[in-house]
Amino acid sequence: MIELENVAYSYGGGELLSNVSLSIQPGSFHFLTGPSGSGKTTFLKMLYGELIATAGHVRLGGIDTRSMSRDQIALTRRSIGMVPQDTQFLDHLRLVENISLPLLVSGRDTGSAQTNLDDLLRWVGLTNHANAYPPELSGGERQRAALARAVIMSPSVILADEPTGNVDWEMSQRLLTLLVELNRLGKTILIATHDLTLIRAAKAQVQARVLRIAERRLHLAGADL
Ligand code: ADP
Ligand code: MG
Repeated sequence: MIELENVAYSYGGGELLSNVSLSIQPGSFHFLTGPSGSGKTTFLKMLYGELIATAGHVRLGGIDTRSMSRDQIALTRRSIGMVPQDTQFLDHLRLVENISLPLLVSGRDTGSAQTNLDDLLRWVGLTNHANAYPPELSGGERQRAALARAVIMSPSVILADEPTGNVDWEMSQRLLTLLVELNRLGKTILIATHDLTLIRAAKAQVQARVLRIAERRLHLAGADL
């Protein structure tokens, strides 16, 4: 469960986000929309404990991120998969190694995870690219690899920042389908996007709430999108 209470964020100038209160229930599907520069990425970073609210409370699993130690943040992040806006891969490692990096870092036994890894690659349609290096991948392949890396630790929450930003319509539909499938498995999904067409397409497949940032506030968008 993710809870925000009167949250504000400022990078030092005026407040970018003010007075945001929200609870995100386990298993729910949310979109976060708003113009470029409105604070979508900033918002996701607060949910990931990467940024700490400058006012108010962001509670992850009941604990305020402000009072978490580095270890607690690291532990909490294991249950949250983040697909960053521009995922960085290590170019000298093969795709399969890049995707399994979180397993290595967490000290989890990669041997027993091998089957999962194979399944995961098949699920995102990258089996044939397992041994490719990141610079050899297309934009859509990178985005699917980023999603695979975000879910490899079996997080209960997936935050995706403009996952369809640099891909064509067909690929964005494919990514959306993967996220809808994860939601059907019970995962909480939050997608930041300025693509209203994508949101409309999703609404035919899944019950989603649409949050919109406008004038520093978070609004629940109506059904008229
Ligand atoms: P969005 O994802 O909706 O495009 P962002 O959260 O990336 O919006 O950025 C919101 C605003 O905050 C922008 O004006 C951006 O320039 C500013 N901003 C983002 N990161 C920083 C930073 N590290 N320091 C100062 N300002 C920042
Ligand atoms: Mg952004």
